[in-house]
Amino acid sequence: MKSFLNNIDNRDFNEEYDHWIFDLDNTIYDFNLGLFRRVSSRMTEFIKEFFDLNEIDALTLQRDMYKKYGLTLRGLMIEKKINPEPFLEFVHDVDFSELNEDVTLKTLLRKIKGKKSIYTNATFKHAKNILKSMGIFQEFEIIFDIKDANYIAKPDPNSYHIMKKKLNLDDKNISKSIFFEDTAKNLKPARELGMSTVWIENDFNRKEADYLREYINFTGSDIKSILNNMLNFKR
Ligand SMILES: [Mg+2]
Repeated sequence: MKSFLNNIDNRDFNEEYDHWIFDLDNTIYDFNLGLFRRVSSRMTEFIKEFFDLNEIDALTLQRDMYKKYGLTLRGLMIEKKINPEPFLEFVHDVDFSELNEDVTLKTLLRKIKGKKSIYTNATFKHAKNILKSMGIFQEFEIIFDIKDANYIAKPDPNSYHIMKKKLNLDDKNISKSIFFEDTAKNLKPARELGMSTVWIENDFNRKEADYLREYINFTGSDIKSILNNMLNFKR
């Protein structure tokens, strides 16, 4: 895969992009924190209780729904007619205590001259909890969440169409937007719409990212090193 670190010295990313869009979980904070794993276990817990299943059957249902619909909740809504609100409330009720204020990330985000938004398959409340804990909630203009997307999750192209409208992106300005994600398959529809894409490297998605590399413009090990490289343009 084309390394992001090569041949970018003479590029002014602030000039190239006027809308910077970030996924939330495992993108804005480090994958290794394991915070999203906790959300995932809460989902298993919910499914166990709600459908009266054992751990293995609950996990199987969760994974099947995720694979088929890109979002466990979406599958449960369509196939099991569950109400999304209590599910979302339950699964995002996790401990954020290890998320600390991130001054370095805040400084980097402030170097971005364009608009900054969050595009997440989670809820606004979850995004707000995380961003506030990291001290960067104020940095984002729009937080586009799963409710805004009518519970249609990335990578369903319909989700991106709704997001585009909300973020005022159209065929003219979409090429001036750049999208950051750890889940490689979520980058494909974005690239197809004309956005530039950045994959946050992680072993969990490596095979898929390699397979989808034509849809990925840049990669890097984590959000801070990527932004640091992009924003240190000197003429
Ligand atoms: Mg993510």
